[in-house]
Order: sequence, then C-alpha cells, then structure tokens
Amino acid sequence: MDQLKIYIDRLKNGESLKIEEVLSPDFLEIHEDDLVFKDPVRLTGEAYLSNDHLIIHLNIDTTALLPCNICNTPVQIPISVKNIYLTQPLEEIKGAIYDVGNEVRESILIQTPLFAECRNGNCPERENLKNFLNSDHPNSSKDKDIVHFPFSDLDK
Ligand SMILES: [Zn+2]
Repeated sequence: MDQLKIYIDRLKNGESLKIEEVLSPDFLEIHEDDLVFKDPVRLTGEAYLSNDHLIIHLNIDTTALLPCNICNTPVQIPISVKNIYLTQPLEEIKGAIYDVGNEVRESILIQTPLFAECRNGNCPERENLKNFLNSDHPNSSKDKDIVHFPFSDLDK
C-alpha cells in the first residue's frame, strides 16, 4: 500500500516527513475467525534521517473485534500503540523505499488480547455459566470415578 511507503529521497536535506494516514485495515491481512479488523487504522508520527539511519516515530490506533469468550458476541477492543521508534540503517533499505506495513501489523498484533469478554468483563451470560457449572457438579465427580477405572485394571 502506497501510504505505508517512506521514500528516502524525500527526506534528504534534514527534512522530516509528517505521517498522518487513515488506512483501510485490509493491509493487515488478518483473516481469522476469532479476530477481525473492520475499523480504519490511523497512523500518526514522523520519519526523518539521522546518521545514515531512517528513524520512524509512530502512533497506531484501530479497533479489533473479538468474540466474547462466554456468549460469542463480537467485542470491540480499542488498540492503541504509542511512540514506537523504528531505526533502520539506510544501506539496508532496498530501492530507497521503506515499507512500514509489517511493523504496523506486528505492533497491532502484539497489543491485541487473545480473549475478550463483552461489557468490560461483565458478560450477561456469565450467571448462566455459573448455574450450569453448579448443576453439573455431581456429574463431574462421577467422571472422576470413571477416570480411575483404567488404572485399577492395570493393577490386576
Ligand atoms: Zn458475552
């Protein structure tokens, strides 16, 4: 995606490039059942050159959608990554164009939780789950007995 590319030639003469982009989340290329990005990805920051290095300072904001761990309702999780500093030696930048896409993707994934629960951890189905677990309790002790049978067979 072109907005994610930083052209080194434009940074010569000590100029810094202001980064202010609102991108479609498509470039994240995350296609998972349990994790969806629908909201735009906002990038702010700047890029500049310092001692033969490209320095990129970035803030990233977007929203992840995860299913509630209990009731499966999609939960919006705000993702905000502040003050990332990327340093890249200029000699390693092929064709004098640096693509920040991968770094942005990784940074978002690191901030994304593996599990979510709706209503900030107060899922309305939580009570039902408790009742279910309690009423199920006598059965679970029966299960324990069943687990022991193979071991008593081994003793014979
Ligand atoms: Zn829920």
